[in-house]
Amino acid sequence: MTLALRDPSLLRTQCYVDGAFVGEPADVVRNPATGEELALFPALDGAAAKATVDAAARAFKPWSRRLAKERSAILRNWFDLLIANREDLALILTSEQGKPLAEALGEIDYAASYVEFYAEEAKRIAGETLPSHRADGRIMVLRQPTGVVAAITPWNFPAAMITRKVAPAIAVGCTVVVKPAPETPLTSLAMAELAQRAGMPAGVLNVITGPAAPIGEVFTSHPAIRVVGFTGSTAVGKLLMRQAAGTVKKVALELGGNAPFIVFDDADLDAAVEGAIAAKFRNMGQTCVCANRIYVQRGVAEAFVEKLAAAMGKLKVGNGLEAGITQGPLITGRAVEKVEAHIADALAKGAQLRLGGRRHALGGTFFEPTLLTGVTQAMTVAREETFGPVAPVFVFDTEEEVVAMANDTEFGLAGYFFSRDIGRIFRVAEDLEYGMVGINSGLISTELAPFGGVKESGNSREGSHHGVEEFLEKKYLFVGGL
Ligand code: NAD
Repeated sequence: MTLALRDPSLLRTQCYVDGAFVGEPADVVRNPATGEELALFPALDGAAAKATVDAAARAFKPWSRRLAKERSAILRNWFDLLIANREDLALILTSEQGKPLAEALGEIDYAASYVEFYAEEAKRIAGETLPSHRADGRIMVLRQPTGVVAAITPWNFPAAMITRKVAPAIAVGCTVVVKPAPETPLTSLAMAELAQRAGMPAGVLNVITGPAAPIGEVFTSHPAIRVVGFTGSTAVGKLLMRQAAGTVKKVALELGGNAPFIVFDDADLDAAVEGAIAAKFRNMGQTCVCANRIYVQRGVAEAFVEKLAAAMGKLKVGNGLEAGITQGPLITGRAVEKVEAHIADALAKGAQLRLGGRRHALGGTFFEPTLLTGVTQAMTVAREETFGPVAPVFVFDTEEEVVAMANDTEFGLAGYFFSRDIGRIFRVAEDLEYGMVGINSGLISTELAPFGGVKESGNSREGSHHGVEEFLEKKYLFVGGL
């Protein structure tokens, strides 16, 4: 299939290694909306991954010695090219990932915003001087780039999950090898093409595709890799952490979530419904910060459910390239099976189906937006990330009860609540064991704030000035004999 790109040369189907596009066609990438084959891309083995890391290691010294202002200018060029090509990038993204085109455009802008932010931040990496313990000496702290960074990213945000790691790493002087998800390699390769056009020197940014396990082995054992940045499932994050222990690498993890979305009886219900739709159904429910459990206080439960059902009735399922579509296909058949299993488990344990519940008449991996009520903590939807368009509604009575239920999970990425009581806003915000809390808002992601989780949702922060920390070492200098 050919995509109607303004610039067809953005459809890169080879890996980007040491400034060149390389590799033979091997694995297929398909459009999840149609099942059509989009392209073939290479399956590099462990030896090729090692050679790529070697290239990134060779590029490190010269890149880290470039003036911050020069690194900044190249990142700024990359940002400008990402924005100038946003329509083509979004078309590639929707074609391989499925999300509606408007959301794909939003993701490209969001992904580019990290490149813009860290182009600016590159010039602001300051060290410090500290009071000395000796009159004839001085203490200084340098902040230096760590070295080569490996980045492993998921399919649900094929552009943004890359720039959130790559932009800060490259800004401070690191070089990077990225392994995108096999479902969505084309967006990352198009972005690499634009990085090359932006003047990024060979070896600074590399993108390789291929079987995950051998590449992951190289990333977690190669002595030149100093940081393994991973966004994906908690299970794979734990595996990489174990593997990286052998060479004591920093492992920066952005893992799964199980976000609570709490509606108190003093909330603005219309705003809460709008927030729930945004937090639940963006990307067909396939985001790590998606509302996974919707807790509603008893007094407003029926009114909220009615309004939510009405809003869900307006969602339009279909091919994300068509106008007006708000819900594309799920990424794979396995994703559909997980959604079906969660619904079946909830119904078997006493939940009621208010809307949807089945595969969509369009076939493939399309699924009906689904509303469940009467959901309890004993059901699988309460314990695991569903990663699909299912809104399970739980009813609660007190603030203490709902905070305990919200925290009753090993995950701690994002949480949301709606309330107009200022005392409650501070109490609940402080008591929720989450890295991010959205209050009276269902959308919280921005390059200006630190994104990340606690507990088994991760150990790192991406975005804002905090986002460079993973890629910097502190070096203490003592100057004596003054
Ligand atoms: P996944 O863990 O299956 O895959 C993520 C990446 O890891 C892919 O590139 C995959 O090829 C690679 N991978 C798989 N096995 C590997 C191995 N043995 N060694 C090295 N790499 C390996 O996750 P997914 O299904 O692609 O993504 C969905 C998950 O990502 C969800 O749990 C979601 O919550 C999470 N996520 C988290 C964030 C965040 O910022 N916290 C953002 C987006 C997605």
